Amino acid sequence: MRIVLLGPPGAGKGTQAVMLSEKLGFLHLSTGDILRENVKRGTDIGKKAKAFMEKGELVPDDIVIQMMLDTIKSSGKKNDFILDGFPRTVYQAKKIDAELKKLKLAVDIVFYFKTSISTVIKRLTGRRLCPKCGANYHIVNMPPKKQGICDKCGVELYQRKDDSEETIEKRLEVYENQTKELIDYYSAQGILKELSGDLDAKEVYKQLAAILA
Ligand code: ADP
Ligand code: ADP
Ligand code: ZN
Repeated sequence: MRIVLLGPPGAGKGTQAVMLSEKLGFLHLSTGDILRENVKRGTDIGKKAKAFMEKGELVPDDIVIQMMLDTIKSSGKKNDFILDGFPRTVYQAKKIDAELKKLKLAVDIVFYFKTSISTVIKRLTGRRLCPKCGANYHIVNMPPKKQGICDKCGVELYQRKDDSEETIEKRLEVYENQTKELIDYYSAQGILKELSGDLDAKEVYKQLAAILA
């Protein structure tokens, strides 16, 4: 089964994708994580993507589409995966739909996390990450046991540079102008399921799991 997670930055897509992958065995493909890894390693993709990401703009479609397609193809025989943060434009959606159909891996379901602006701003400004294991915390909603330290690794958490207030504003504008129209695109295909991203993480997971069952 192929699942797409759609919603504004900070809606909780990554958090749910991790839970789904841990509990139901889905492969979690986060475009943002893969791009950040490329930036860190200084690959060609990373060099091209860096400036866009820092400004909160989308990385050009063709770079991201090819990168995700390569990731899917190289993931072996894994037919159950979650696309987290991809597609983000109708152009990306049309291209990846066509390619996935050829591979007989069409998207089955799209979860749209309808989330209020005030929620996403609080979530993004409070997000903290572990540099070692990638674990995702929130200073208020999901704090680590010891402030600023990863529960699993004992190393210091960091804040993403693009989780600053002005870049968040830009990312929300990009979402409104370029990503939101995917709601209509997938709704027209009859595969969109809407749920509230404002709920707490366990409740969102319960709803996702119920729909999948
Ligand atoms: P968030 O957690 O806010 O949803 P992501 O980690 O998904 O953010 O994305 C971080 C940045 O990576 C985006 O602001 C954008 O620059 C780039 N990016 C991620 N996914 C895509 C995509 N599908 N298309 C273009 N750019 C992307
Ligand atoms: P996205 O991938 O959509 O950008 P994340 O999953 O990274 O969002 O979540 C953004 C921040 O909000 C993180 O700090 C995370 O710990 C926290 N968070 C995620 N889901 C919830 C939730 N349902 N309730 C409260 N906080 C949440
Ligand atoms: Zn860690």
